[in-house]
Amino acid sequence: MRVSRVVMKFGGSCLRDAGAFNGVLRAIREYGGESQLVLVPSALSGVTDQLINMARSAIKNKLDDELDLIVKRHIEIAEEVLGQGRSSFIERMKAMKEELAKALSRVRLEGLNDALLAFIEGFGERFSGVLLEFFLNENGLKTTLVEAEDIIVAFNSYLNGLPLLEETAANIRDKVIPLLNDGVHVVVPGFICRNADGKIAVLGRGGSDFTATILAYGLKDEKSNVKVILWKDVDGLLTANPEYEENARIIREISYAEAKELAFFGAKLLHPLCLIPAERKSISVEIRNFWRMGSDDFTVISNVVEAKVSVVKAVSGMKDVAMVTVEGEAMVSRPGTAAKLFKIMGDENVNIRMISQSSSENNITLVIDSVDKDRAVEAIRRSNFFGSHWIKINVEDDVGLVSVVGAGMKSTPGIAARVCSALGSRGINIRAIAQGSSELNITLVVSRKDLKEAVKAIHDEFKLSER
Ligand code: ASP
Ligand code: MG
Repeated sequence: MRVSRVVMKFGGSCLRDAGAFNGVLRAIREYGGESQLVLVPSALSGVTDQLINMARSAIKNKLDDELDLIVKRHIEIAEEVLGQGRSSFIERMKAMKEELAKALSRVRLEGLNDALLAFIEGFGERFSGVLLEFFLNENGLKTTLVEAEDIIVAFNSYLNGLPLLEETAANIRDKVIPLLNDGVHVVVPGFICRNADGKIAVLGRGGSDFTATILAYGLKDEKSNVKVILWKDVDGLLTANPEYEENARIIREISYAEAKELAFFGAKLLHPLCLIPAERKSISVEIRNFWRMGSDDFTVISNVVEAKVSVVKAVSGMKDVAMVTVEGEAMVSRPGTAAKLFKIMGDENVNIRMISQSSSENNITLVIDSVDKDRAVEAIRRSNFFGSHWIKINVEDDVGLVSVVGAGMKSTPGIAARVCSALGSRGINIRAIAQGSSELNITLVVSRKDLKEAVKAIHDEFKLSER
């Protein structure tokens, strides 16, 4: 018989106070069943932001009060939810607080660098991880904490680690699976990892989702079934942003590819990379609302037959973007022009949301985040090639992006036509358009003032508010 393993991630709001901790117990009892369990806590809500602010202001300020406040918040919860373990938990908190205080004084001496920031940022999960371990043990669930940095190995940056999945999986086989097989539950703090230099790093904001799916990847073998439950304070993925479309509803089933499109498109709900490890091993991922436990409204991300469910799954709007167009006859038939432009953006660390180039080749349009606009344009102007009088650079900061997502678009002709005529019939002008060759997504640029109406028009056209 196959063993069943469940990885449950608890978002920060699911750990915000003593009452929430009792909800964690309920989630484990009702959704863990007889399975082997790995539990991944985020930092208590708001703590990561506080830590980042502290790291940034450590040069100027003494932060004793802030430090005390964070520690106090954890101890207050412990006082409500722990009995005999309380004093050893407080000892552990004191030791971790010392470590954090030391890191902050290093910032004062050396200035802030990515290594120190990553180390400081991860303390929220270190605190919540220990608290969760104590809490579960006191409630009769035999639990051991395994440090994330001992198993999740990543390369790349300190702040956006990319995991080495096979190396990590080997660590999970060595350090986690034997505990599970002995009937012990395992807590692994979210967000934290170790990089190739052996230093503590983090997986990017919202990284606990990623922790959960990375662990699931390592836990899945021929003898096991694995599933991930991400407990959050929302029901799941929606057919549209609720601020633009009040009739948006929960998407109950969605494929990895579609959900990734939505995550990439800034649905803050999921870490953009977290579905990749799950997809590689066909592990289903459920997004559930911690505050509506037991509800049927939740999202399952899996290998569902994509096209069958519906042609268009969701439409999403993004407002804080700018459109940069580089144009000039000098670009026509000159290989390497796009590469030059992208290199400039890459060097400036500007994230590109959409690209389109007309086949006449005399312009390339990029959509980027508004905050990056001045930096991007400045860098393009400075470059030898684009800075010449042969090329015109045009910036429009009054635009929004609309992304239409659905795997069924691939095999169904006429979807783009329906999207365009839905907008046209409401008098909305399309300023640029792009479709990825995966055909999972059509992205359009419209005036920002039309953004809401555009989302609604497409939501209506594909009847997304009907089940
Ligand atoms: N605590 C980290 C953050 O706020 C990671 C997470 O919550 O997933 O970004
Ligand atoms: Mg968080």
